[in-house]
Amino acid sequence: MAHIWEKSYEPGVSWDVALPPPVALESLLEKAAARWPDRVAIDFYDRTFTFRELHDLACRAAKGLQALGVGPGVHVGLHLPNTPHFVIAFFAVLMAGGRVVNFSPLLAPRELKYQIEDAETKVMIALGLPMLYPQIAALKGTSKFDTLVVCSIADFLPAPIAAAAFGPAAERVGGAGREIDFSALIANDGAFTRHPHGPLAHEVAVLQYTGGTTGAPKGAMLTHANFCAVLDIYVHWNGIGADEEARKALAILPLFHIFGLTFLMVVGIATGSQMVMHIRFDPDRVLADIARKKITVVPAVPTMYTALVNHPKVKEFDLSSVTMWVSGGAPLPMDVLQRFEALTGHSPREGYGLTETAPLGTMQCKDLPARQGTVGLPAPHTLLEVVDLETGTRVLPVGERGEICFTGPQVMKGYWNKPEATAEAFRGGRFHTGDIGFLDQEGFVTLVDRKKDMILSGGFNVFPRNIEEAIYEHPGVAEVTVIGIPDSYRGQSAKAFIALKAGQAPFGIDELKAFLADKLAKYEMPTEMEIRSSLPKTPVGKLSKKELVAEEMAKRQATAPQAAAAAARG
Ligand code: AMP
Repeated sequence: MAHIWEKSYEPGVSWDVALPPPVALESLLEKAAARWPDRVAIDFYDRTFTFRELHDLACRAAKGLQALGVGPGVHVGLHLPNTPHFVIAFFAVLMAGGRVVNFSPLLAPRELKYQIEDAETKVMIALGLPMLYPQIAALKGTSKFDTLVVCSIADFLPAPIAAAAFGPAAERVGGAGREIDFSALIANDGAFTRHPHGPLAHEVAVLQYTGGTTGAPKGAMLTHANFCAVLDIYVHWNGIGADEEARKALAILPLFHIFGLTFLMVVGIATGSQMVMHIRFDPDRVLADIARKKITVVPAVPTMYTALVNHPKVKEFDLSSVTMWVSGGAPLPMDVLQRFEALTGHSPREGYGLTETAPLGTMQCKDLPARQGTVGLPAPHTLLEVVDLETGTRVLPVGERGEICFTGPQVMKGYWNKPEATAEAFRGGRFHTGDIGFLDQEGFVTLVDRKKDMILSGGFNVFPRNIEEAIYEHPGVAEVTVIGIPDSYRGQSAKAFIALKAGQAPFGIDELKAFLADKLAKYEMPTEMEIRSSLPKTPVGKLSKKELVAEEMAKRQATAPQAAAAAARG
């Protein structure tokens, strides 16, 4: 065996299994519609769509997009939360010959403008709700962006139900460029024109924006072949049979983020599964729908598990239909994992990857006991190497900590229009993740933290994640984020931001230090803490550090002149 992790694979799984040749992504929907025409593909607030209907809608939208000028080389932005429009538009853009650019609907106007310009977006498809539409409409006419397609919840739900659940539609402003309703876009016979594809390993299907390891957001160029590799590896890993019964996945992860995009939508469509779509994460609705609709698969980020374990009624719901709980995207705190197991009898399995790997990297085995605390094993066809932090080029032996690198068919082509960032990420031919971790003798991967989050305190490398894990053990803590702050003595020290569980009494830094005394080294001990009613999260729901880091910097900059003036006065 060539790699140490192969011996830990489940029987029947092999690292170098022959994968089918890649296909154009849009053909996945075409094949699904031919194979399972009457199966339900989407359940959106009880309005169901069969694969046949979904395919028919995508063909019509493709023809409508072509009439707007979409074809090879044209970039179409999707600014959509989880509604059926997302799936229809995604496949329609590819059928029309264009490329998809995913936008988080939670972006601030400035970020939205940056991404529209950077991605050279011509057409945007957005939802006409008051909290989303005005920002997009205001940008129409910016650089190449000349056409806006406006979707409505009432396209698919009866108007009174749509209005009751999602509020009234936004007032339209018109303005520069063209604006067309989604209902008008699909008012045709669906006979779109096919464009031939070039080699699928080079042909970009999606620009997926990510903060990446450093700097401004970058568009990861993901090819048709990248997605097919993840799909085929996942199917092999999980032994998903050609004619098995439909799986029912709860789509609470946003499809605009790579985790939901690949594992809910691409895998779901290709395997004839059903997506039960929620427009946003609402724990009450999650628990109710799992019990009522007999959901079988739940992929989620850790903050969703935290919300479920802290939900007062979690034990009242029958969650026994779920055979696969998956966690990824951020570290799943051990305390949350253990409480989830104790409450529900189920154990979430952790996987790890990034936007740039579409997002497959490592996975826990399907049926063997999960190796908790690790993120599982490197996937088939995936070469995971750990390199030294200083040069990023020396491959370290098993057991040593360093930066994790990936090589494999799922790794992106590069960053859109960013040759320098691409060259930096691919030093030595491997993709550098910016994550610090190590392999053990069985091939399991443990993540330590992200390189950029590491705190340098008094000459020691301090990993916020380690401190967060210890704070999660405090019975009053619901969520915690630790960042580095400037410290005149140690260079940097740790500060903890804490959200308490409902009804818990607040506490101060001395009590926190006493609680952590036997859990952390002295140099890891936080020097400051703050209790907040909630903590910042990224659009996919991961706890986010950057807002807190920016706040701390701004606070220090504001007080620095005063401190300097006070020092000058003596
Ligand atoms: P994104 O590109 O938004 O998917 O973010 C990728 C980053 O999320 C990785 O570089 C990791 O830092 C983090 N990540 C993903 N999965 C995990 C996991 N299971 N445990 C810890 N961090 C993770």
